[in-house]
Amino acid sequence: MARYSGPQCRICRRETEKLFLKGDRCFTEKCAVERRQYPPGQHGQRRGKLSDYGVQLREKQKVRNSYGVLERQFRKCFHQATRRKGVTGVVLLQIMETRLDNVVYRMGFAPNRTSARQLVCHGHVMVNGREVNIPSCAMVKGSLVEVKEASRNIPLIVESIAKAEQRGIPAWVEVDFQNFKGKVAEIPEREEIQLPAQEQLIVELYSK
Ligand code: SF4
Repeated sequence: MARYSGPQCRICRRETEKLFLKGDRCFTEKCAVERRQYPPGQHGQRRGKLSDYGVQLREKQKVRNSYGVLERQFRKCFHQATRRKGVTGVVLLQIMETRLDNVVYRMGFAPNRTSARQLVCHGHVMVNGREVNIPSCAMVKGSLVEVKEASRNIPLIVESIAKAEQRGIPAWVEVDFQNFKGKVAEIPEREEIQLPAQEQLIVELYSK
């Protein structure tokens, strides 16, 4: 599946908000948003007030880019969300949050979603005892995610786990760092999804 392969910091700068797409660097003063608090490009510093449509569009782009998916797939997820019970915006975020690549990231096996996606694509991750190399694979309550035995000495994974142990992980996943395993204990509630987004604006945008 296709993905955005340009500069990650440019995405944050476009939203003039830290989206934490890179891992460690995001917590240092090297963060591009901290150094230049205006959108990229020749007219970045000249952009005027956004229209209602513009505000909705930016909100959608922010969420979509945070999870690293392209428009077509994001829209598909939205339609999936409209068919499920519950508040569409929240269901959409739950769908995004329970993607396999995001779960690997939330469990602390990767420093960011891009690396998590790569680990999945390269076959380093197993779900319920079977290798799965599809980053968008949907996890459900009780799904068991583990790093393959042969991949447990990959420096990126080892370093990421060490940092996740210090930093902590979200309450909706349970992780056994010693055995490189984790479980989706619950589908996250909105307040457990650490994303500064107004999901109702996305619903308004796509409902036009
Ligand atoms: Fe975004 Fe991280 Fe780059 Fe800062 S360092 S702009 S938070 S990706």
